[in-house]
Amino acid sequence: MKKYFTLFFILSLSLGFAQKRAQIDDQIKIGIEELREFVLIPNDALILDNIDKNIEWLSENFKNRGFQTKIIKTEGAPLFFAELSKNKSAPSLLFYMHFDGQSVDPSKWNQKNPYIIELKEKSGLGWKKIEWSQLKEEVDHEWRLFGRSTSDDKGPIVMFLNAINLLNKNNKEIQFNIKVILDSEEEKSSKPLPKAVEENRELLMADFLIINDGPVHHSNKPTLVFGCRGITTLSITTFGPIKPQHSGHYGNYAPNPGFRLAHLLSSMKDENGKVIIEGYYNGIDIDEATNKILRSVPDDITTIHNNLAIKNPELVGNYYQEALQYPSLNIRGLSSGWTGEKARTIVPDRAVAEIDIRLVMESDGNRLKKLVKDHIAKQGYFIT
Ligand SMILES: [Zn+2]
Repeated sequence: MKKYFTLFFILSLSLGFAQKRAQIDDQIKIGIEELREFVLIPNDALILDNIDKNIEWLSENFKNRGFQTKIIKTEGAPLFFAELSKNKSAPSLLFYMHFDGQSVDPSKWNQKNPYIIELKEKSGLGWKKIEWSQLKEEVDHEWRLFGRSTSDDKGPIVMFLNAINLLNKNNKEIQFNIKVILDSEEEKSSKPLPKAVEENRELLMADFLIINDGPVHHSNKPTLVFGCRGITTLSITTFGPIKPQHSGHYGNYAPNPGFRLAHLLSSMKDENGKVIIEGYYNGIDIDEATNKILRSVPDDITTIHNNLAIKNPELVGNYYQEALQYPSLNIRGLSSGWTGEKARTIVPDRAVAEIDIRLVMESDGNRLKKLVKDHIAKQGYFIT
């Protein structure tokens, strides 16, 4: 009897799971159709008319799900706001996503129109287009969709809307007040956003903020990242002769700003990527409990290294998640003279390094910038 019961229990459980899977797959099909329609509306953040047309689509589709919507005017492109509030006393969740995309250069795409989504499957090292009719059959979760902003960040908006549909279909009551703010200039560094947030404090007030953007974990599992690092930037220029000089005439005599900059930059870090400027990592203490949580993230080092095509990581942390708990010092761009076809026989007049510093909770950006500046001065440089 007990055996029979166990079998029945397992059967009903697995039946429930299969039904759920089928329901999710059906919703995925609906969602993909909706995403095709949404991506078809160009969303170049530099073209205001594009943004307006996207907002029209968003207003209609959020209203369809019972949201109240609002357009927030800013100094730049407008922002889109939506709210689903059944119980005012419930905690509120504010979701942030963005619907703008980078400008498109169709010649760089392996498809005719980047705004027309294509369905593809893996083929060797690349991807092969397959017919949309295949979607009528079973959904293969290894298929991929290609189109401007399909994953970053229109996909998450459509997923969000379809998740609301699934909750409704299953009569699940949403236990929160849901607020949504959709950015129209994320790809242009969200310049109007801070002021708009200050001006709409009351409207955007929430107990939790969730950002639906960013990479998928390589395990493909749903991922929650608690917090993300901030940023501050620095630009360093070293100067050589007043104008570029012929390297046959002045090489060995006029100081080369490229080499000076290279020495300066390499004095900031050791060979393992650790910043050696005194005090840079001060105040960061990862306790045992935090370490345990960080270590439980299922990072597969081989996959990460293969994906990045790297052999040895930098050693700021003992492992990937630990490394992210420290501020970084990153060269995000380097230039001096000319390279490639345009290379010339000169001693350049200047060399430039663009630096970004990723910040963590314990590290104040101004303090770190001051440490870097003091370090540069200590090497004998005059800072303008
Ligand atoms: Zn994004």
